[in-house]
Amino acid sequence: MTTAKKLVVKNIGLILSGRIEQPILDGDCLVALDGKITAVGYEKDLDTGNPDTLIDAKGTALSPGLIDSHVHPVIGDYTPRQQQLNWIDSCLHGGVTTMISAGEVHMPGRPRDIVGLKAMAIASQRWYQNFRPSGVKVFAGAPVIEEGMQEQDFKDLADAGVTLLGEVGLGSVKAGETAKQMVAWARKYGIQSTIHTGGPSIPGSGLIDKDVVLEADADIIGHINGGHTALPDDQIVCLCESCKRGIEIVHNGNERAGILAMRTAFEIGEPGRVILGTDSPAGSGVQPLGILRMIAMLSSMGSVAAETVFCFATGNTARMRALDCGTIEAGRAADLLFIDRAQHAPGKDMLASIQQGNLPGVGMTVIDGIVRSQRSRNTPPAEKVPELLKAPAAGAAGGH
Ligand SMILES: [Zn+2]
Repeated sequence: MTTAKKLVVKNIGLILSGRIEQPILDGDCLVALDGKITAVGYEKDLDTGNPDTLIDAKGTALSPGLIDSHVHPVIGDYTPRQQQLNWIDSCLHGGVTTMISAGEVHMPGRPRDIVGLKAMAIASQRWYQNFRPSGVKVFAGAPVIEEGMQEQDFKDLADAGVTLLGEVGLGSVKAGETAKQMVAWARKYGIQSTIHTGGPSIPGSGLIDKDVVLEADADIIGHINGGHTALPDDQIVCLCESCKRGIEIVHNGNERAGILAMRTAFEIGEPGRVILGTDSPAGSGVQPLGILRMIAMLSSMGSVAAETVFCFATGNTARMRALDCGTIEAGRAADLLFIDRAQHAPGKDMLASIQQGNLPGVGMTVIDGIVRSQRSRNTPPAEKVPELLKAPAAGAAGGH
């Protein structure tokens, strides 16, 4: 059964747009149809009649759902890296509604021969397309490129639906010249690329320095603050200044280097390139609140307005990754996050409390116009939480 499903959100206290050009929007109401935002503004001006789902935001803040630009999923909601179940559901409770794979590198027995790595990438793309853990959108099927791949291999991958490369440098391709050729082949067929930046992450991966990153010219400078070992400061600054690619800062990296990269982006007038990831699951673990922790860390220690840092984890990532979510505007996916100041947090309001280094509390998440979680089991409790006044009958939500 498919009918137009209407979502109405009323009494929003603050709208974070996700757009770095204008991080805060006027309004108190949002309407979505069939999982897409159709209108944002004041309730008195919008058509709010006959909703299938009605949310009273109770004065909480509305943000686009957070995007984790750098995850290493394997299969379903299980990671063998730290033997954890339901880690993606835990991240949903940390406000993450979309994840982008930087390679399914933790698969035990991961194939490194070319036909095997292609087969696994195609299968991974399919199993996350077909199964969204707790509703979270996981873009996966990101092959780790190996020596010997030819142009035809990239065409085959693209023809089969693969849209991402795993981190360049995690496989046998570590030289700039070979990486450059393969990244160019990938780009020719519409496949986005990310390069590992910095020292080896775990035994088996290697050093990728600024010269290799610049020569390879991947779309995203993956974990510019190291994953975990960062490049020297002068190389990080040089990477920000020398190309126009995405500046990805991750939780499982060097925090000081992350602040340096962010400040450099502001200094050169290009904060729109800054995007955030956790780089988890990894040796450093899995961080359900990792993106919120990055927002609080960069805002407080880097002295940037919290509403601007939210854009790094939403609209910036959507633009650099060509996603249809990440901003609160008509036509975008209704992937929403309701947050409020954590109970007993200092600061005159939620944004001030984040700028002092505190996490907000998550009160609800929505993906494609469907409520996926209510008061977070993982964040500090929010002062105010939204109330779900009306919801479609169980089973009518469709699938996930
Ligand atoms: Zn890496």
